[in-house]
Amino acid sequence: MSEGTATLLRGATLIDGSGAAPLPESAVLVEGERITWVGPAAAAVVPPGANVIDISGKTLMPGLIDCHDHMIHTGFDIMRRASAPLSLTMMRIADNLRVTLEAGITTVRDAGGLDLGFKLAVEEGLIPGPRLVLGLTILSRTGGIGDTRLRSGIDLWFMEMPGLPSPVCDGVEACRRGVREVLHAGADWVKCAATGGVSSQTLGPTDTALTYDELKVIADEAHMRDKRVFVHAYGGQGLVDSVAVGIDCIEHGAYLCRHPETLARMADQGIWLVPTFMVIKLHRERGTPWGRAKAAAMRDDHRRTLEACMQAGVPLAMGTDAGGYMHGHNAVELQLLVENGMTPMQAIVASTGDAARLLDMSADLGTLAAGKYADLLVIDGDPLRDIAILDQPERIQLVMKGGKTYVDRLASAS
Ligand SMILES: [Zn+2]
Repeated sequence: MSEGTATLLRGATLIDGSGAAPLPESAVLVEGERITWVGPAAAAVVPPGANVIDISGKTLMPGLIDCHDHMIHTGFDIMRRASAPLSLTMMRIADNLRVTLEAGITTVRDAGGLDLGFKLAVEEGLIPGPRLVLGLTILSRTGGIGDTRLRSGIDLWFMEMPGLPSPVCDGVEACRRGVREVLHAGADWVKCAATGGVSSQTLGPTDTALTYDELKVIADEAHMRDKRVFVHAYGGQGLVDSVAVGIDCIEHGAYLCRHPETLARMADQGIWLVPTFMVIKLHRERGTPWGRAKAAAMRDDHRRTLEACMQAGVPLAMGTDAGGYMHGHNAVELQLLVENGMTPMQAIVASTGDAARLLDMSADLGTLAAGKYADLLVIDGDPLRDIAILDQPERIQLVMKGGKTYVDRLASAS
């Protein structure tokens, strides 16, 4: 379909991303980058010259928003990465962006690793990719998850890019400076690591990695610049302190159910959780021996955490963190959200309307309504009946971002 003209997508069942009941026989009018009208197909007025596409029997829904991924990863083979010319690595990263967009992920909050140039390249239309919201660098302690130095003495920082500030911050003033550095380098959000994790061999998921004072200065410094903070925290004191100092979003949070007061505070204050079931499943199935063990150990708590958050009203958004293992299968997270207690509709809202609220982009993204960007998917089938179809490429029949079509399987399918 050509750009510039109006396009009317007509006849599909509309899931608008707000959680409202699906609207059968709907129509959505796209003019330029934006949606200009949404309603029942029978009431649609077709503008002169509009391209009318009949998508009866299919589902029309917003593009998915992954609030936690790492587009920079090009596989675990360090020698492959180390022996590639830098320009080749950049092209491979650009390809990760394309693959992710073509899978129906129209926005990604990159939780560390991608520099500002990729975001600008997508915005300039140089490369296809999701809209990008950047964390740039994971601020962390010496030996924390952002520290690239191995015990062999080898420093994997060579895999990072010049536009990324150094991650290691020890002490309050170093943390303050770290925030200023990442904001100067173009971060949209500030990312830090308050606990250890699954993949690291040293700090475990409930080990504290930043002190209360370090976390507080990170939160205060970011908020002073009107930016928000997302924190890698699985459990333990680092998780409790992150919420106590007023950070804005917890990543992973598998052991949050063990801290009911913290969980209640998140609900009260509207602090988000991005539970990232996908990467933990991948760690469990394909990780290092210690990663498999840690990921298996947190499985039941993680499920209880999701249930408790849903009960308490902690705001939830979808994130995969799966980039270390693969790109383009982000929609698997919706299956896992459903397996762990959400309805398919709740999983879709966490991946669309609510994800846009977390990113403070609701005015433009997340739901299909007049005035929003035309970031939308046409799906062959009903994801409310079978959420797994969102990860089946042949079912993703149209991917549109900002009114531009990036995947079109409609002609071949009809
Ligand atoms: Zn991550």
